[in-house]
Amino acid sequence: MTSSLSISSIEEKYLNQVSGLLPHFSRQLNAYRFQCPYCQLSSKNHRGRTVTPSGCKGFFYSNGNALNFKCHRCGTGKQFHNFLEDHFPSVFLEYVAERDGLGLTGKGTNAPTLSNAAQRVSGRVTAAFAGELVESGSGIEKTDCKAAGDSAATSQNQVISGPIQPAITKLPRLTPQQQAGCSARLAHKVKQHQKLRQRDPAAPYLQD
Ligand SMILES: [Zn+2]
Repeated sequence: MTSSLSISSIEEKYLNQVSGLLPHFSRQLNAYRFQCPYCQLSSKNHRGRTVTPSGCKGFFYSNGNALNFKCHRCGTGKQFHNFLEDHFPSVFLEYVAERDGLGLTGKGTNAPTLSNAAQRVSGRVTAAFAGELVESGSGIEKTDCKAAGDSAATSQNQVISGPIQPAITKLPRLTPQQQAGCSARLAHKVKQHQKLRQRDPAAPYLQD
């Protein structure tokens, strides 16, 4: 009982921390409402009109002991930690670290363990840096790698309002050989620039 109460209050605390970055964030009677960061990416809707608070379809509902995200436009449903992981990786790690310290992570809880969380974020951040590195080099798979880096960097920068112009809207399907070539190149670049990992927000939580 006590642990479920504190889980709720920890989640609320971190939701408050990011609420300023969620457009039209407001507290409702039994929920929090804001612009859905999964489908309402622009401040304009599909008709070119500005999204109003009543047009926002993203919600956090409390189910008693946890907050769950639900969008009534795209149907996306997420547990609290998954939502943080998708849009605020650094805050996600802080949140898991606090719960980990209280023994409220892992099996039987609604949060991953800290090492698990750090590994998940680390992979994404490393891929983003690798994308930047490849961009400065030359290669056949350059555009594909750059696109992957861009999308990761976008979520990392926590940009959820304003028009987002995708650099490439349609990517050609990669052959297995191209895929292998791309990841081999990334792996090589990442290895060469290990020191860049220090910029990784997951670094303090990772054990080598
Ligand atoms: Zn949505």
